[in-house]
Amino acid sequence: MEVLVKPEGVRARVAIIGGSGLYDPGIVEDPVEVKVSTPFGNPSDNIIVGRIGGVSVAFLPRHGRGHKIPPHAINYRANIYALKALGAKWVVSVSAVGSLRWDYKPGDFVVPDQFIDMTKSRPYTFYDGPVTVHVSMADPFCEDLRRRLVSTARGLGYPVHDKGTYICIEGPRFSTRAESRVWKDVFKADIIGMTLVPEVNLACEAQMCYATLAMVTDYDVWAEKPVTAEEVERVMIENVRRAREVLYKLVPSLPEEPGECSCCRALDYAAL
Ligand SMILES: [Zn+2]
Repeated sequence: MEVLVKPEGVRARVAIIGGSGLYDPGIVEDPVEVKVSTPFGNPSDNIIVGRIGGVSVAFLPRHGRGHKIPPHAINYRANIYALKALGAKWVVSVSAVGSLRWDYKPGDFVVPDQFIDMTKSRPYTFYDGPVTVHVSMADPFCEDLRRRLVSTARGLGYPVHDKGTYICIEGPRFSTRAESRVWKDVFKADIIGMTLVPEVNLACEAQMCYATLAMVTDYDVWAEKPVTAEEVERVMIENVRRAREVLYKLVPSLPEEPGECSCCRALDYAAL
């Protein structure tokens, strides 16, 4: 594929950030590969710009192709900045998560509505001063996009939970049993992963409509239910297949301009 270094004129209405297992640039039609540089450094990989059902889409594998970048080392600021620079208004983030409750089963989708941030050392903002902003995170996801994700997955007959609290840990290690019980029983989180923060709050600072399609791969260690790598692999392959179907159906249905949500005005009341 030809790599365009200066992507003038290359625009995308929708951004897809692919997580573990979703790297394949073949997800879009007529793909061109675009190298975008940002004031915050380079994104995880070149961005693939193409179309899904006639709608322009920018696809970025969060960990880079070949899964070369661990969660704590991802340049989240460059990723969001680059997608914004391409004109994306909607950001659909796809990620693999562990479950903290029995009824969120491996193979289920969750479209979280809340998060708890237990990360430790990431650049969390585009505004390091002198401009200072404090964006509202009371409802961190775009409610419009969340609803669309849920109804699309439901329409395809896939099991999907329309609410959930995603606890984001630093990684790259997994939780201890004691930690996992705290997340579940004390914090009352529902799913666990390593990549939501600061992606979600940077998207908010960038005034983009952002929501996550989380795919449960296994139960976290609280469950004392050891799984084999093959089981996880099998669930992940099926999850990715279903996520692609959701994206193929969702993307063409997204309006050109986001509607009634407040995501695109997130900075109106945030600047000091
Ligand atoms: Zn929105």
